[in-house]
Amino acid sequence: MIMNRHQNDWYPSNISGGQVFPYMDHAVDAAYYFMRDNTSVVDSSNTNGRLLHPFDISGIRSDFPILQRRVNGKPLIWLDNGATTQKPQCVIDALREYYQEYNSNVHRGAHTLSKEATDAYECARRKVQMFLGASAIEEIIFVRGATEAINLVAQTYGSTNIRNGDEILLTMMEHHSNIVPWQMLQKEKGAVMKVIPINGRGEIMLDEYEKLLSSRTRVVAITHVSNVLGTINPIRKMIDMAHRYGARVLIDGAQAAPHLKVNVQDLDADFYVFSGHKAYGPTGIGVLYGKKGLLEQMPPWQKGGGMIKNVTFDGTTYNNLPDKFEAGTGSIADAVGLRAAIDYMQKVGMDRIEHYERSLTGYAMQALSMIPGVNIIGTAPDKISAISFVVDGVSPETVATRLDREGIAVRIGHHCAQPVLQRFNIKSTIRASLAMYNIREEIDMLANTLYKITKDY
Ligand code: PLP
Repeated sequence: MIMNRHQNDWYPSNISGGQVFPYMDHAVDAAYYFMRDNTSVVDSSNTNGRLLHPFDISGIRSDFPILQRRVNGKPLIWLDNGATTQKPQCVIDALREYYQEYNSNVHRGAHTLSKEATDAYECARRKVQMFLGASAIEEIIFVRGATEAINLVAQTYGSTNIRNGDEILLTMMEHHSNIVPWQMLQKEKGAVMKVIPINGRGEIMLDEYEKLLSSRTRVVAITHVSNVLGTINPIRKMIDMAHRYGARVLIDGAQAAPHLKVNVQDLDADFYVFSGHKAYGPTGIGVLYGKKGLLEQMPPWQKGGGMIKNVTFDGTTYNNLPDKFEAGTGSIADAVGLRAAIDYMQKVGMDRIEHYERSLTGYAMQALSMIPGVNIIGTAPDKISAISFVVDGVSPETVATRLDREGIAVRIGHHCAQPVLQRFNIKSTIRASLAMYNIREEIDMLANTLYKITKDY
């Protein structure tokens, strides 16, 4: 079922009565880069009503050089943040400085540059530990991204703990990266895969989840935030429920880490993964968090240099955590860049980012739901960033091409989450996904252009 604007009472309307589109006539001019309002916010849900510092949106925007770009003669409106985020100057500088001033391999050389690179790499790990609220630095494994992290867990924890007849639970809204590694394991081991259903708003049906859990459940893999629907899943509760049956839980935080404050200890997550490039950092770097006790029991994954203590032709002993899981040379510069990205997010404040983005998501939901012919898929009240929709009688390709002409970048397709689209009987959507630097005027431009598209067809 697709929720349309009539079924969707997702947000109380605060757009003045009578006018369908009060913002239709906004000119995109010099004022474009500044928020009209909302420069000071009170976040009652996350900060017990204390006044937060002003969210300096124009300052934030000026930190991202690419936002000054024009595309097809128009200011770039980057609404493809679910695919990857743009990078602040400090991340670009961190990468340049690394290569210009202390490029070296880590943990090996007996020289100054190697020491500097090693310090920077391990500082990045410490930064990630703090960012996720992990109890020990050994619990942070650098990988290429969320996909690699999930493969690592499926092929090490999974292959040693899943047996014939065991059950793996996934939600209907998982990204292929959190389906395929488990499916391969399931087939290899003769295990059973069960899917937790979602309702028409795109929320997990917790009562159905409860029914699927049993003493045979070994692993539950859940996305924290859906990359298609934007739904924020109740993972704290879901982890608790799984633990009551002795199951381990992997949380895919790819779409959560840039938007929400995460604390893996509060969540009691067994594994938590995310990708640097979706959190303002470079590509090629991501994180696997795992509880130390679990990581220690797991066999190594990739084999080679760095992950060994001692090698003879008779056998090998493996290194301690985290090195045991980091065979070969890692993405050192990208880890340094990720550290800068986390510094940046923390400087802005994760609670402020969340508050701002929730409000912007609400604004966008409201704006799009008012356009006749635009149907939003995913109307959970608790959602952030991703807004998927289809337009009656107009293909996603046509919509995306028209938006691109106006400098608006969105994503179309199945978003690597085909099962959730099948749930809504569609093959493809248009997805706008928001980040901390997006502003209401950009949403207005999106809505304005969509409105024109619906009029033209
Ligand atoms: N999980 C989710 C929810 C995602 O949205 C994505 C990417 O879009 C991934 C996993 C995979 O991330 P990566 O390609 O960075 O490994």
